[in-house]
Amino acid sequence: MKRFLVWVILFAMPVRSSLARQTTRPSTTPPLSENSQVRTAMAWFEPNLNGINDLQVRITEIPAPPFQEGQRAIALKDLLAQAGLSVHIDPTGNVIAELPGLNDNEIVVLSAHLDTVFPAGTDVKVRRDGERLLAPGISDNGTGLAALVAVARAIQAAQIKPRRTILFLADVGEEGEGNLRGIRAFVDEYRSRLKDMIVLDGAGTDYVTTIALASRRLEVEITGPGGHSWSDFGIPNPINALVRGSVRFINTKVPTSPRTTFNLGQIEGGTSVNSIPHEVHLKVDVRSASLGELDRLESALRECIAAGVRDEMEASRDLSRGKLEWKVELMGSRPGGELAANSPLLASLRAADVILENDSRIERSSTDANIPLSLGIDAISIGAGGNGGGAHSLLEWYDPAGREMGLNRVLLTLLGVAGVEPEKTK
Ligand SMILES: [Zn+2]
Repeated sequence: MKRFLVWVILFAMPVRSSLARQTTRPSTTPPLSENSQVRTAMAWFEPNLNGINDLQVRITEIPAPPFQEGQRAIALKDLLAQAGLSVHIDPTGNVIAELPGLNDNEIVVLSAHLDTVFPAGTDVKVRRDGERLLAPGISDNGTGLAALVAVARAIQAAQIKPRRTILFLADVGEEGEGNLRGIRAFVDEYRSRLKDMIVLDGAGTDYVTTIALASRRLEVEITGPGGHSWSDFGIPNPINALVRGSVRFINTKVPTSPRTTFNLGQIEGGTSVNSIPHEVHLKVDVRSASLGELDRLESALRECIAAGVRDEMEASRDLSRGKLEWKVELMGSRPGGELAANSPLLASLRAADVILENDSRIERSSTDANIPLSLGIDAISIGAGGNGGGAHSLLEWYDPAGREMGLNRVLLTLLGVAGVEPEKTK
C-alpha cells in the first residue's frame, strides 16, 4: 500500500524526468575542496564575520512590509553591485545580479526573499544582547539576505569564474498574501535556462527542504435575501447553508500519508442575532504533500458548499424573496513538488555537508522553492547558518555563532552545481 501511494504521489506531481536533466551537468567537476580559488572564497568569511553581522543589521532596519519591498530592494541592488555584479530590478521588484559563466545557456540561482510579514510602522530597530541580534525580520530573512551578499563577495574576492551563469536574486512577495509573486515572475522569465535554485530562508544548517508542500487558501461566500428572524422565518439563511455545507466538508476523509490537512480558519457574516443574514464568508486553508489530494479537497469543498446551499433551499418555506447565491474563490495557491533523491543539487549539498562535517535532515516546507519544484526545476531551501527563533513574531532573534559554517555550506553547494573553471585558465 505504501509503495502504491508513493507511486501515486510521484505520478501526481509534475516533476519532469530528472534523468534527462542530469546529462547537462558538468561531468568533469574537480573536487571543490581541492580548488585553491574555492579555498580562498571559503576563507573570506571568517575575517569578515563582523561586517556580515553589521550588514544583516542594516538590511533588517530597512522596513520591507508585504508589497513594500522597494527601499530594501534598492539597498540590495547597491550591495550586490559592490560585489562586482551587474544588477537590475525587474518589473515585479526583484533584484537580479548576474555573474556570467562560461555557459550562459545554463543558470543556477541563489535567492533570498526581501519581504517580511510585518506591517508598515513596525519597529524594526535591531537591539543587541551580547552576540544576539533582536528585531522583527532579523532572521527571516535578514540572515538569508546577508548571506546572499556575503557569498557574492567571497566569490568576487576569489575571482571565481563559474561554468554556469550564477544569478543572485533578492525577490519580493514570499510571505503570506505575497503568494510567491516574485519567484513566480522570475521563474517565468528565466525558466528555459534555469537548472538549479538554492533558496536561503532564515538561519540554521540542520536541514534541507526538498519537498514543497502544496497549499491553497479558499474563500467561500454565500449570500441571500436577508430579513427579520421572526417575520421572515422560512427564507433561506446563508449561515444555515454554510453550516450544512461545512459539516459535510469536515467529514471528508483525508489521508495521513501523503499528509493532507484542512482548516476552517475564519468565519464572518451576519448583522445581528435577530436578523436572517445577507451574507457569510468562510476562509479555508488546505495543504497536502500530494497535488492530487489537494485537487480532491478543493473539489470536495465546492461540492459540499453546493450541497449545503441546496439543502438549505430545499428546507426553506419561502423562496419568493430570493434564492441563495454562492461561490468559492481561490485566494492563494502554492504548488507542490519534490526534488529527486538522485538530483545533482542534493548531491552537491550532501558533498558540502561531508566537507563541513555537518548533519542535515530532509524537510518538507512551503517556500520560494515551491515554484521551481512544481515545474520540475531542481531546487532546495536551506538556512544560511547561525541560529534564529521567533520567526514572524516581534520577539524574533538571531545568534550568529557558527554562521561561517552555514555560509560555506551555501557557497560549496552553489559552486558544486555551478561548476568552477580549472585554475590554469586564469
Ligand atoms: Zn522566510
